[in-house]
Amino acid sequence: MTTAKVVTRFAPSPTGYLHIGGARTALFCFLFAKKMGGKFLLRVEDTDRERSTAEATQAILDGMAWLGLQHDGEIVYQSRNIDAHVAAAQALLDIGHAYRCYCTPEELDEIRAKSRETGIALRSPWRDGEQAEPAGVPFTIRFKVPAGATKITDSVQGDINWDNKNFDDLVLLRADGSPTYMLAVVVDDHNMGITHVIRGDDHLINAGRQSQIYQALGWDVPDWAHIPLIHGPDGKKLSKRHGAQAVTDFRDMGYIPVGLRNYLLKLGWSVDDQEIYTDDEATSAFTLNGINSAPARLDFDKMDHINGEHVKIADNDYLLKGLKPFLDADISDATTSRLVGAMDNLKTRSKNYKEMAKQSAYLLLERPLEITGKAAKPLRKDDAKNHLGALMEKFETLNDWSSGTIHQVLVDYAQINEIGFGKFGQPLRAALTAGNPSPDLADVLTYLGKTETIGRLQDALETSYNAS
Ligand code: GLU
Repeated sequence: MTTAKVVTRFAPSPTGYLHIGGARTALFCFLFAKKMGGKFLLRVEDTDRERSTAEATQAILDGMAWLGLQHDGEIVYQSRNIDAHVAAAQALLDIGHAYRCYCTPEELDEIRAKSRETGIALRSPWRDGEQAEPAGVPFTIRFKVPAGATKITDSVQGDINWDNKNFDDLVLLRADGSPTYMLAVVVDDHNMGITHVIRGDDHLINAGRQSQIYQALGWDVPDWAHIPLIHGPDGKKLSKRHGAQAVTDFRDMGYIPVGLRNYLLKLGWSVDDQEIYTDDEATSAFTLNGINSAPARLDFDKMDHINGEHVKIADNDYLLKGLKPFLDADISDATTSRLVGAMDNLKTRSKNYKEMAKQSAYLLLERPLEITGKAAKPLRKDDAKNHLGALMEKFETLNDWSSGTIHQVLVDYAQINEIGFGKFGQPLRAALTAGNPSPDLADVLTYLGKTETIGRLQDALETSYNAS
């Protein structure tokens, strides 16, 4: 166990958007660093010049910023560290843990084919230094895999042992002098003082290879935690077929960052039955060995549930701002103030912004409302208009426009007329909401306000709702 101050890193390759799996890795790195009072660093692994783009780097940064995963210090760009990578390769050469390999591509094809046949890992004929080295011939620098075995202890996967016979003598520096991933990661992690490498379990075997390089260089090997992949709801590896994959897809589906953080935390990490975590609770509860070793499945119902709990406790102004892009049109000041008034109610009825947009729709309708089909049915009933007319008169004289008083007016009306609530409640709701989702009737009136309520009732009284 490393005793130095904890330093974690997220090390994305900028070849696309920030994938939800990468985001969860970043979250775990972030939480662990915070929990331990350490640092969370960001390294952009942009050495693959062909596949790395500035747009992808920006998309990853945007995704992290949206999710609230603020890294410490400056961003490290791997491509700027090439001198250090080359120096490390040279050091390995000098101490006999690497060698120059002059094999031609054809020779390598043959060696590889043989290695596949025998099942023995790739060893170059140049490894033992018995042949005189040619001058002016291109060469790669290969790592000389030591004899014996490699063991790592992984906080998620447990103890893992490999027979070194199974590891190829990997290229560290290509013939053009460029470093490979395997070397660059070790050198950068060492120079950044990384104490804990937390990443996807597709890199588990790399931990074996990288441990050998650390040891050859006489450097401390970091602690490892390899996290299983995220699968789709069907248990298959998450792919385009499943729809949402990028963090921004989840943003566009209407999740709020704190909700998604909580969901991602629970997706593959658990210490007890607690499901809803504030950020502070998440930070203090997080442990690496709470990470499950089996792949996690995305579960949108659970995501909605967890997000909904955070919506309930979120700040109203914050929600209003976040909701606006999900509404069909720009909203006027009058409608904005209706949303402000209704927000306490809306946030208990909506698990995400998309739902909140649906739940808000009745507040945003323009007069006269278009009420057709099934939604108009209650307005076609005998007596519907009589009830609306009578109620409108009562509302016109009502000075205290609060939910309690309005509710009392409705109760009294039912009592005096000796009728059930449904008789007038249904046409009233239809006239005010055009069949859109809506809360308790008294609340509908309260949030619409007196002027809009009476306006909508007048419109309904003037319109004939022919069956359609
Ligand atoms: N850049 C690598 C990737 O995106 C991660 C390397 C690492 O975490 O060691 O898969």
